Amino acid sequence: MNMDELKGKTVLVTGGGGGIGRAIALAYGARKASVIVVGRNESKLEAMARECKQAGIELLTLPCDVTKKEQVSALRQEISEHLGIVQILVNNAGTAPAVSFLEMEDRLWEYVLDVNLNGTYHCCKAFLPDIIASGWGRIINIASTVARTAYPSISAYTTSKHAVLGLTRSLAVETARRGITVNAICPGYVDTELTRHNAELMAERSGKTVDEVLSLFASSSPQKRLITAEEVAFVAVTLASESARGITGQAINVDGGAVMA
Ligand code: NDP
Repeated sequence: MNMDELKGKTVLVTGGGGGIGRAIALAYGARKASVIVVGRNESKLEAMARECKQAGIELLTLPCDVTKKEQVSALRQEISEHLGIVQILVNNAGTAPAVSFLEMEDRLWEYVLDVNLNGTYHCCKAFLPDIIASGWGRIINIASTVARTAYPSISAYTTSKHAVLGLTRSLAVETARRGITVNAICPGYVDTELTRHNAELMAERSGKTVDEVLSLFASSSPQKRLITAEEVAFVAVTLASESARGITGQAINVDGGAVMA
């Protein structure tokens, strides 16, 4: 991929203050795209922007809770007035609390669907018209291997990510003749705060140490390791290239071979 290919493209990464989103924002920033990163925690976003600046990458951070339709609309308004049109939308914001189905409270079910599915829906609804108008675009949804399989104690998460994959495929079909591709990336266990937090919870419940739980996560893939956020970012950037214009409606696993479907 030509390093200048994404120069000048405006990219929006949701939930980019840390973890996978941060790595994606940095990967686009390194390719001279104009990157906007949103999340709820402004101080986390500002700290991340400062760190990036020190590394020579300028990013714009804005607060936005993707579960709030009016905040997403206001975000779209602000970006289009001051920065131009978003052509690459990376729906990365997500949450994955672990609890068994019968112990799960209704509000947890609603919250997980709200962030992972409705958040993605709100952003696609708000930004797709601009992407269509510009005649070129990419929507990249960070799903999960649980979009195509299931593990215990994450039924809400699994349901939400299956739904994200359904939305990805539907939008891919609807935009196929407009210069737009819509794809999902399905990571396995990635070494991020989210995974460590779940490992801590599992350690408390099982009497294992956090490292033992992380090793269990790692051993669930044939490569016997956690994926890095940068490996996911590599795919997110590759999908934006011109050479990837034929890839749409796909779910691309980045999981060390854990799920082969
Ligand atoms: P992190 O918890 O590190 O990051 C998630 C980000 O989402 C946070 O920066 C958080 O920021 C943001 N976020 C959460 N809720 C909202 C909201 N309502 N509005 C805006 N931003 C929000 O997780 P990861 O980096 O690990 O995960 C990123 C994505 O990758 C998620 O969609 C996750 O499901 C997916 N994934 C992760 C895997 C893993 O093993 N880690 C595996 C497969 C998929 P803030 O709190 O500031 O809002």
